[in-house]
Amino acid sequence: MPSRMSIRDSLPVYREDDCEGALFAAKWPNGFRCPRCAHPYHYEVSSRRRRLFECRSCRHQTSLTAGTVLEGSRTPLTKWFLAMYLMQLGISAKRMAELIQVTYKTAWLINHKLRHAIGQWDRDRPLDGAVQLLGEYYGYEYHRHLGSPNAQETLKPQPVVVGASLDEADQFVHLKMKAVDGPEGNDTTRRGVSDSEAAAERFVESHVAGGLAAGHAKKHECGHLGRTPLHLAWREAVRWLSWTFGGIGPKHLQAYLNEFCFRLTCRGTLLAELIECCGTRSRITYRGLVGPRSGIRPIKWGYRRSAQRRDRRAI
Ligand SMILES: [Zn+2]
Repeated sequence: MPSRMSIRDSLPVYREDDCEGALFAAKWPNGFRCPRCAHPYHYEVSSRRRRLFECRSCRHQTSLTAGTVLEGSRTPLTKWFLAMYLMQLGISAKRMAELIQVTYKTAWLINHKLRHAIGQWDRDRPLDGAVQLLGEYYGYEYHRHLGSPNAQETLKPQPVVVGASLDEADQFVHLKMKAVDGPEGNDTTRRGVSDSEAAAERFVESHVAGGLAAGHAKKHECGHLGRTPLHLAWREAVRWLSWTFGGIGPKHLQAYLNEFCFRLTCRGTLLAELIECCGTRSRITYRGLVGPRSGIRPIKWGYRRSAQRRDRRAI
């Protein structure tokens, strides 16, 4: 892993025009198409520094980011592209915030929106050919990084199914890791069933092309001594989650696993695939990412403001 300084020195310089061109090509690979009527011709309109494309037939206006994970973001495209570049290295949102000079919250949101696009990309590509499976648990490494015994009690190890299709040279053609209790593991009615046979069966149903036809996938025994590519990839994933993030809780585990598998599956073409994901994958809101509101009531700001005013008078 390169040091912080060397990453900063090697960051590419993106121009807004180039980013727009790349996003245009990802969104409309065969030239502009009106999203409403599929008409191929448009006028260009500039509004509040944003490029808008107006359909010559139905007058519908659209932008490069409309309907994508970038929709509604006020962060410049150049920073989004830097974030995609940095995703190749798998760094934390904190480091990304420093490197591309945005707030931590913005970096976290960009990362999670990219992971959302990656999740959709992965859903469209089931495993194919000779499939290998491995049932593992995530959690032990994580617990070691947490000091609090209370946290250790609430964070139970998460069963995860690792599945892959490999080529003759044992390189991953496609790799998937799915948390059994997570959003992509199984349906809610059967959640909590961590029987490894049943979990592997459901994995095949949901993530292997042809589903049950591939039921005779090669299964590996879990354990830290395993030397197969699946064992090695799983241990690398756990190390990445522990060293870079100090461990990940069950809520977002699936998003991080998807990112890890995307990196290993796409290797040389990762940046191009990510740009294409951003041009074509549908949007997600902040609420959609963090889940429903918790029961905690928001702090009333009026109270804090009046306290500040009193302080000022005292000075
Ligand atoms: Zn139109």
